Amino acid sequence: MSDSVYASWNPWHGCTRISPGCKYCYVYRQDEKFGIGDASRQCRKNASFHLPIEKKRNGSYKIPSGKIVFTCFTSDFLLEDADPWRLECWKMIRSRSDCLFYFFTKRIDRLEKCLPPDWGDGYENVMIGCTVENQDRADFRLPIFRELPICHRSIIAAPLLEQIDISPYLDSSIEEVSASGESGLEARPCHYEWILDLRRQCVEKEIPFCFHQTGARFMKDGKLYRIPRRFQISQAAKAGIDYRIGKNGIPETAGFPIVSMEEEPEQVQFSL
Ligand code: SF4
Repeated sequence: MSDSVYASWNPWHGCTRISPGCKYCYVYRQDEKFGIGDASRQCRKNASFHLPIEKKRNGSYKIPSGKIVFTCFTSDFLLEDADPWRLECWKMIRSRSDCLFYFFTKRIDRLEKCLPPDWGDGYENVMIGCTVENQDRADFRLPIFRELPICHRSIIAAPLLEQIDISPYLDSSIEEVSASGESGLEARPCHYEWILDLRRQCVEKEIPFCFHQTGARFMKDGKLYRIPRRFQISQAAKAGIDYRIGKNGIPETAGFPIVSMEEEPEQVQFSL
């Protein structure tokens, strides 16, 4: 996955655990690693809150045109604590129709309450990934997700904690399914059969599938592998099982336009 298409925007930091996939949340792990564990528990606005509309001295936007902007990756964009700030974010997103804003959420059941008045059938420049980690959460979240007005949607099966059947929820409105194991010292193992089974479900419906990362503990052919963080994405890529994923990790069927890049990207730090 080349960085050149991507940027990141983190309007707030900190989150509240909500489901089994949150148990070893990477936000908490990172903050603890840097000795600021309390920072994760309380949601706070970041200094970069207005980044999408910030400009450089030469008048150009700090986030150049055409980027896929990973949004709110050390929190959940639909977190209740952030309700007072979100409308301003929607306005910024609306004004940057030249970028695609992409956020993942474990709170898709809150989306309707969180939408701006002019959302209509969805903003064309917003992609939403509904995260599911086990069958129970898939069966709760995906029926809700399917009914919501969203222009671009993906399913994020991460951290994958068991074999899941999402086939009832796969249709042509899903632009991608991405699967990953869990990272971190205490990671729960991810089994390769679970990944292959998800891939099979996607291939049957011709939906793009990406094996994004192995996680830290990966079971294959009855053997448990411990995989250092820096190899988790590359090892997944080596499996060579992505389906209908094109250049820069973008699904072949992506319904959003990517325009040409003029500048080097912001540093992207993106982890599940
Ligand atoms: S950031 Fe995501 S994984 Fe972490 S607590 Fe929030 S919803 Fe859970």
